[in-house]
Amino acid sequence: MEKSLFTDTDIMFQTLSYATRLLASEKDLDQLIDNALDILSDFGHSKKVEFIILETDNNQEAILAGLLENGLISRLNKEINIKDSKLEEIIAHKNPKILSVDSQTKIYLPLIGSGNNAIGILALHVNNQKKLEDIELNSLIILTTLISVSLEYAQSARLAMFDSLTGLYIRRQMDIRLQEELHRIKRYGGSLALCMIDIDHFKKVNDTYGHLFGDKVLIELAQLIRNTIRINLDVPCRFGGEEFMIILPNTDEKKALEMTERLLQLCQKHSFTYNDQTIHVTFSAGITSTTASAISPKELIAQVDAMLYKAKEEGRNRICVRREE
Ligand code: GH3
Ligand code: MG
Ligand code: MG
Repeated sequence: MEKSLFTDTDIMFQTLSYATRLLASEKDLDQLIDNALDILSDFGHSKKVEFIILETDNNQEAILAGLLENGLISRLNKEINIKDSKLEEIIAHKNPKILSVDSQTKIYLPLIGSGNNAIGILALHVNNQKKLEDIELNSLIILTTLISVSLEYAQSARLAMFDSLTGLYIRRQMDIRLQEELHRIKRYGGSLALCMIDIDHFKKVNDTYGHLFGDKVLIELAQLIRNTIRINLDVPCRFGGEEFMIILPNTDEKKALEMTERLLQLCQKHSFTYNDQTIHVTFSAGITSTTASAISPKELIAQVDAMLYKAKEEGRNRICVRREE
């Protein structure tokens, strides 16, 4: 019988090398979580893996960001309290720990970031019958180190892209995406619409109910925007204080108006609540669209801003659409 050129150890190192490359090149947080769950389940022979991320400002709270169970990955983003739990102990010691209860073994691998701070924890559920070899366990530890570095990197990339209050794209990101869309029209044709939203009398909301209530309104309106737009297609941004901009690729002004009308109705009906207070707010919006690639982002923004100004002038709580001259 012909003998394979590769030993089991060779194959193991090749797989490990491939896995490390996959993890090291991932900048997107969600994709990193998916890859990490898949790889850990392979290396740990585990049918269930949990990816837990610690809250940066509160080390008693954590997010169960992702779960792999029987080959299926769910991104749960579920809050969990880790105070007085096993997890808290493992995070404090910053070392991997293996715990066996009945027929189940759990491998806890703390994620340690720069400054030797715990930033998360990976939990692998392993069947007791399957005893991990030392080389497999050590591979898991190497992978954990790499996941920690990539996680920190992906988190800072996310922080630089998204507004911390609303979770929407920041202004700079909007400028980049708008320019990209205009390039796309130049190459492939099509259209683009821009919608600018400004909350009505927001200063009064702050003055009457306090700044924290105002923040809550911004957070909830951002969620209404996310619920209304096309996921992974439209680009919702926080333009400034209480102003939002939505880039709508391949959309004419009629479709943009329909979307914004739906959003305005949702907003009018929505009860914004904070403590035991409830209020209603409205917004004004401007819309413009283009099929011309020659237009600059600055011109488009000026057009949509003029429409928003018109909506305010005409009495607020309404939408004005720019018509071609
Ligand atoms: P208009 O209907 O003309 O838009 O009136 P307005 O009161 O909404 O407009 P104005 O520009 O006078 O006020 C905007 C307010 O938004 C003022 C500022 O304090 C508030 N603001 C900006 N950013 C934030 C924020 O992050 N949180 C809170 N709570 N308020 C903010
Ligand atoms: Mg404003
Ligand atoms: Mg306003």
